[in-house]
Amino acid sequence: RRRSPSESVFHQAVDEVLANLAPVLARHPEYIEARILDRLVEPERQIMFRVPWVDDAGIVQVNRGYRVEFNSALGPFKGGLRFHPTVDLGVIRFLGFEQIFKNALTGQGIGAGKGGSDFNPAGRSDAEIMRFCQSFITELHRHLGEHTDVPAGDIGVGVRELGYMFGQYKRIVNRFEAGVITGKGVGWAGSHTRTEATGYGAIYFLRDMLATRGCSLEGRRAVVSGSGNVAIYAIEKAQALGATVIACSDSSGYILDEAGIDIALLKQVKEVQRARLSEYASARPSARYVTDGSVFDVPCDVALPCATQNELEEQHAAELIRNGVQAIAEGANMPCTAGAVALFRDAGVLFGPGKAANAGGVATSALEMQQNAARASWSREETEARLESIMRQIHDHVRATAASYTGDPDNYVAGASIGGFIRVADAMLAQGIV
Ligand code: NDP
Repeated sequence: RRRSPSESVFHQAVDEVLANLAPVLARHPEYIEARILDRLVEPERQIMFRVPWVDDAGIVQVNRGYRVEFNSALGPFKGGLRFHPTVDLGVIRFLGFEQIFKNALTGQGIGAGKGGSDFNPAGRSDAEIMRFCQSFITELHRHLGEHTDVPAGDIGVGVRELGYMFGQYKRIVNRFEAGVITGKGVGWAGSHTRTEATGYGAIYFLRDMLATRGCSLEGRRAVVSGSGNVAIYAIEKAQALGATVIACSDSSGYILDEAGIDIALLKQVKEVQRARLSEYASARPSARYVTDGSVFDVPCDVALPCATQNELEEQHAAELIRNGVQAIAEGANMPCTAGAVALFRDAGVLFGPGKAANAGGVATSALEMQQNAARASWSREETEARLESIMRQIHDHVRATAASYTGDPDNYVAGASIGGFIRVADAMLAQGIV
């Protein structure tokens, strides 16, 4: 706090982890002696840079770029890039810190990093997006490498942006270094199932949580916040497993569609037309677009916050509980406030924290790196089966860790933090004071 007094979301992320580590520190005093916690909260390296670019009117624009290389104890720095006007150093540090534990939980040999810019892609032309991405990577490229630091997508960064960045990187280094960026198109060294992986993975995790109570997704009413990459594929997989997703949102409102969201129409509106969610309601008689209240006011059995941090606050948690919600899986990073998480836990609602529940995206990025290293391309069936198996392993590991350290296997929050922490801490101990 002394070093970064204004970074409230970073402090929130650190507090959540530290609050759960007491039992592990009591059992392992060697972590305290080696000052693992002090080292863990300080990134190995932080890069901030100017991103100048020219808009379609010929006017020079300037944004700020970030890459926080948090921890490389388990592998190259790995984590996405976020382009959104709310991005600042504190946001990137919170996301990078979360990434440490998430990446460790995947068991895939990846360190942790995160980056992005305060650039707002909304309303920008394709040519503007390309010029921005080229300028961004022209500076950042010197810090990247398939064995050093490997970015991917996040809010505002999808396959289009990653393509422009990969193309510029290749041009600068004069090498087709496929493993330097993940989330690439399947036709140019990307992996099957990467686009779907975070959303699908969150649903696999939710399914496994429900199974511990003898329940399934069949016939459940589900609500998803957001309508971007994670939300779309969470909706797709939830419906494939028998749930009816009746609502999803964007930053202006939400759609309510009691008939169940038409996933083909949603993809057409969001991925092809890049239009607002209100267009979905215009094209679908059973749907309406609601601009007052929250998507979490809609009564449901399961809810997946898949938009952004701190979007689900205490009053939303209270409303969900009143309406009988049984399980929450965080598709986004830290979408629930600490107060909301406490309410869910007190009410006995199954709660899957993002560190575990949304780890499928970065796990599949690691699969993409493996394919790139082998110059191989696995089938969709193979990548999806591996994703499903990794999510099962994460779920079971988190539960077993929670049971061992807290006596409560349902304490997924503690299990995820402790499970990730032990893997990173042991590697840091083994590698000395670096
Ligand atoms: P997208 O940019 O594809 O979609 C983001 C969605 O969230 C949009 O519907 C957007 O609405 C909404 N949103 C963004 N910011 C806000 C805000 N401040 N208030 C309300 N709504 C907002 O991003 P992703 O789907 O990739 O990412 C969503 C979340 O998942 C993030 O927390 C991200 O860190 C996390 N995540 C993503 C992974 C991935 O593989 N992509 C991996 C793991 C986690 P609008 O269009 O109106 O802005």
